[in-house]
Amino acid sequence: MGGPVADVRLAGIGMTSARTRDRLVQRLREQGIRNPAVLDRIRNVPRHIFVDEALASRAYEDTALPIGYGQTISQPYIVARMTEALLEGGPLFNVLEVGTGCGYQTAVLAPLVDKLYSIERIEPLLKRAKDRIRELGTKNVRFRHGDGYRGWPTHAPYDGILVAAAPLRVPETLLEQLKVGGRLIVPVGPEGAQELVRFTRREQKIERQGLGPVAFVPLLEGVT
Ligand code: SAH
Repeated sequence: MGGPVADVRLAGIGMTSARTRDRLVQRLREQGIRNPAVLDRIRNVPRHIFVDEALASRAYEDTALPIGYGQTISQPYIVARMTEALLEGGPLFNVLEVGTGCGYQTAVLAPLVDKLYSIERIEPLLKRAKDRIRELGTKNVRFRHGDGYRGWPTHAPYDGILVAAAPLRVPETLLEQLKVGGRLIVPVGPEGAQELVRFTRREQKIERQGLGPVAFVPLLEGVT
């Protein structure tokens, strides 16, 4: 759409301004996020456009916030941590994201990869995410309404797969859709006992590295 009204909405004012975002970046740096490209993305993505207007003033707090349908926008620290973990280990050409949600993680990740494929099982959330990604002018993302447990075989294998909801066990299908050297970042486990894990596919085996405790909504089967 463009024009002055859209520009002000994207730039933000007061609690949604660039200065507020800089403070968030400073906090993430203090918490150990080091990758400058990731910190740059957090500085540049207007998180306030991904939440309801009533919550916009809280968009740069480092917390998860509701986005409807019982789902939440991920905490900025977690988005930064997952993105950093995905980038470690080589360039990302072809990447799959499972659990688009409101599209914030999508917006952070897209310019850091060549092609991004993003799947969401709740159709209205997906539609809104698409609109926002379009509003930001991001062009290298393709969306799909579907069940991320199955991955997206058409575009496999992937250099990276990022999952934004927690399965009880790591889905084999997703491991199978990784290239050799590819990384799968996924929270695994039941509510209250989840761990963020990076799986790396090698020629003969899958490497597993724990990245610490996390709290995600569950990865659910089927679509709505
Ligand atoms: N990354 C998002 C947060 C998403 S919350 C953000 O930045 O805001 C997790 C999302 O995963 C929810 O929208 C939920 O509907 C979705 N989800 C859960 N199970 C899924 C599945 N099997 N396939 C695709 N999406 C799924």
